[in-house]
Amino acid sequence: MATSNSTTQVTHPHPRLQEINASKRVLVIGAGGVGSVAVHKMAMLAEVFPEITLASRRLVSCEHIANEVMKRLGTKIEIAELDADDIEATSALILQVKPKLVVNLALPYQDLNIMEACLDAGAHYLDTANYEPRDVARFEYHWQWAYQERFAQCGLMALLGSGFDPGVTNVFMAWAKKHHFDEIKTLDILDCNGGDHGQHFATNFNPEINIREVTAPARHFEQGAWHESPALNHKVTFDFPEVGERNMYLMYHEELESLVKHTATLERARFWMTFGDAYLKHLEVLENVGMTSIEPVMYQGVEIIPLQFLKAVLPNPSDLGKTTQGKTCIGDIITGQKDGQEKTLYVFNICDHEACFAEVGSQAVSYTTGVPAMIGAALMMTDQWMKAGVWNMEQLDPDPFMAMLNEHGLPWQFKLLDQALDF
Ligand code: NDP
Repeated sequence: MATSNSTTQVTHPHPRLQEINASKRVLVIGAGGVGSVAVHKMAMLAEVFPEITLASRRLVSCEHIANEVMKRLGTKIEIAELDADDIEATSALILQVKPKLVVNLALPYQDLNIMEACLDAGAHYLDTANYEPRDVARFEYHWQWAYQERFAQCGLMALLGSGFDPGVTNVFMAWAKKHHFDEIKTLDILDCNGGDHGQHFATNFNPEINIREVTAPARHFEQGAWHESPALNHKVTFDFPEVGERNMYLMYHEELESLVKHTATLERARFWMTFGDAYLKHLEVLENVGMTSIEPVMYQGVEIIPLQFLKAVLPNPSDLGKTTQGKTCIGDIITGQKDGQEKTLYVFNICDHEACFAEVGSQAVSYTTGVPAMIGAALMMTDQWMKAGVWNMEQLDPDPFMAMLNEHGLPWQFKLLDQALDF
């Protein structure tokens, strides 16, 4: 696929490039909900991941996952304590483990430091969320796209956003473009979590990152420009397959930026997420009293960030699996032309919270992110997706990824809709 990325030459191969490419080891950073699923799924695919090391800020988080994987699958996971905000420490761990690939499942704040460490010590890189500065919630790729030359010149690859959204939603677009359309005109990404965790208020992944995302202004692309509107202001009811009718809200989500950049014919791109009334009521109160702010405040002589304090009192998303029932349904509705005819395609996955918990001890939100992280990693480890530079998911061949979704727990379906969306 011709893109601006593909022109850069490998002019200064990393001194360890041959050794890196021959390595069978993977280093996963971040032992949270998503890290747990990814490591379980890697351990189930020993022919691709014979040696797995899991590192995180607290060794106890790694120990917990390693014990679970040993209990369920009998596979030994090496563990290490690492503060990935520290580039030198991360480089040192890469040089000690000597992985082919570093899978970054820590928080978006660590992305650039881990990319630096990969360039320094030598390793390919993958993440599931774009870099965010701590002090301002901006979901933009330019910080990571700026690494294009450096990765390409030394022969290393960075794969950005290999989760579900971003991730699978980007691959769905690439697959639709490859197999179903001559020209794509509109994209609507619909993210429905029809699950119930039985708590008054909880988020399904890291609360700090989740609330920053949900309370940010909505933004969508239409007629060549981005349009901003207040958060959670535009509501539509949609009948989701196997879930039923849910209210979904227009939001901004990071994959819109790369998909608009890489799909020249797109006239409109939007992202929608479902929220229940109780979730929104709690969020409104928390916002009104200032608890979702990321501006530091002084409390008893100590500077604290209200949102980080809120995270500390909310349920841990990785503990929600035991009680969560219901399904997620995430997919893309794409319109465009094929052979001169207008066409509307809906491609989606349905995932059952309880089935995920039975398989790997996590709810579906962690599962639907951890499985694509494993798949992206597997395609890089086996060189099916391996080219120097910084890439978004839609820039790579969707077919092997789509096949692995079906094989590894996230089967997808598609249907043609009679008419385009009327909202
Ligand atoms: P969690 O909060 O459950 O886990 C994050 C883990 O990262 C924690 O175990 C934490 O460490 C570790 N960590 C945090 N800071 C550091 C650091 N400085 N050095 C090393 N480790 C660190 O989050 P999730 O698992 O829910 O989410 C993980 C990532 O996945 C996030 O970036 C999130 O945005 C992304 N995501 C992407 C989605 C997608 O579809 N693309 C959907 C959902 C999430 P410890 O426990 O050791 O203290």
